[in-house]
Amino acid sequence: MSEFAGRAVTVAGLGVSGGPAARALHRLGAAVTVVDGADHDRARAQAAELAPLGVTVRLGDGDTLPAGTELVVTTPGWKPSAPLFAAAAAAGVPVWGDVELAWRLRPPNAADWLAVTGTNGKTTAVKMLAEMLRAAGLRTAAVGNIGVPLVDVVTGGEPYDVLAVELSSYQLHWAPSVRAHSAAVLNLAPDHLDWHGSMAAYAADKGRIYEGNRVACVYNAADPATEELVRAAEVEEGCRAVGFTLGTPAPGQLGVVDGLLVDRAFVPDPQGTAQELAAVADVHPPAPHNVANGLAAAALARAYGAAPAAVREGLRAFRPEPHRIERVAETGGVTYVDDSKATNTHAAEASLAAYDGLVWIAGGLAKGATFDDLVAGAARRLHGAVLIGRDRALIADALAKHAPGVPVVDVDRTDSGAMAAAVAEAARLARAGDTVLLAPACASMDMFTNYNVRGDAFAAAVRELASGGPGGSG
Ligand code: ADP
Repeated sequence: MSEFAGRAVTVAGLGVSGGPAARALHRLGAAVTVVDGADHDRARAQAAELAPLGVTVRLGDGDTLPAGTELVVTTPGWKPSAPLFAAAAAAGVPVWGDVELAWRLRPPNAADWLAVTGTNGKTTAVKMLAEMLRAAGLRTAAVGNIGVPLVDVVTGGEPYDVLAVELSSYQLHWAPSVRAHSAAVLNLAPDHLDWHGSMAAYAADKGRIYEGNRVACVYNAADPATEELVRAAEVEEGCRAVGFTLGTPAPGQLGVVDGLLVDRAFVPDPQGTAQELAAVADVHPPAPHNVANGLAAAALARAYGAAPAAVREGLRAFRPEPHRIERVAETGGVTYVDDSKATNTHAAEASLAAYDGLVWIAGGLAKGATFDDLVAGAARRLHGAVLIGRDRALIADALAKHAPGVPVVDVDRTDSGAMAAAVAEAARLARAGDTVLLAPACASMDMFTNYNVRGDAFAAAVRELASGGPGGSG
């Protein structure tokens, strides 16, 4: 009998992970109710799949705690301030996230978790890590926030040796008992503060990833906030703090020397020796922030015992996900790069730093961000800027202040031709040798369904331009 048999469990939200959580709990004998404030066609279709199993689904009311609830399992989208959680707290009912549930459902002798969080770079680092582990001959998968629900993975019966787990700050917030073998926080910049309430709360939730680590807490030496989180964590005896840096590594760190990724942490004599792992050129693409992601992944792979050759092979096998500094085309001596996934200023800063001579396409929903530092940092390398989307005036102001000589084109339309117009303007501003970079620093939902659709629109416009089609210059 499972500990869930006969227990009344409420799942908050359908979403990507709500369905799998409800199914898993139902299989274990729980009496499951799913609640969701939405009541649209997609939610109804999901509900219709769950109902025949005997799962109760209540649409259109996400606030009231169903009577008799003994445990709430929440999907990541729900804010901690949601009324349902206040009701749960008042009734003394525990709240777990989907990751907490997965952790508790792990079978005996289940695979260790190597966990990654951070404001930006999570998906990239986790995929790199999975490739390295695979190259080391281990049975593994990239799972978690990446779109593969952990509950399905741990209850699926597939025999993994170790998992490369992406965890969002939301998931960490509701995952108090997860204990990774080793974990990394890639970086920490303001994001999702509306969800967490404050930067301190956001950082504290990210820092939970280090709790109870057994072998290594991997931090970013260029981002002291990540090291502070290591210091604040309670870890197993013997667990080490391992930094990564784009500079020469100190003993106990991984870093870069003469175009090589080197390890001065997982070597017999960190004071006296360094182990070559790979070349910077083995990282795809070799932009500095991506090299940092590779170093973090390498630190976790090495913490798990992967050999240096596996790190190199893994990096070579890694293929970036779409819309992350993805080279679309070169035409007229100008390279076009799609970083539509740069949905915040921290991400855009990294990609702007990766190129000299730039025409920058930016704008969308600012989510409360300011653009002064971002623009000031890139001003010297900007040959032009093309602004789109609702909050473009905020970026225009920052450009006027910090990059007054840079020509700026304001695209004052939001119809389906807006991106093509922006690309045509960017092409006009670009000189031979320049990069036209879509790194919006903003969310996309004012004009597009999501960042994928935004990136696809950019790529389509660039291809049109390259083929000399409408709006193209040949
Ligand atoms: P996440 O899963 O955290 O959203 P991704 O790997 O999908 O991260 O990358 C998202 C975007 O963040 C990329 O398009 C790139 O612009 C930026 N980025 C990736 N890695 C870093 C990093 N280490 N530091 C800053 N920005 C980064």
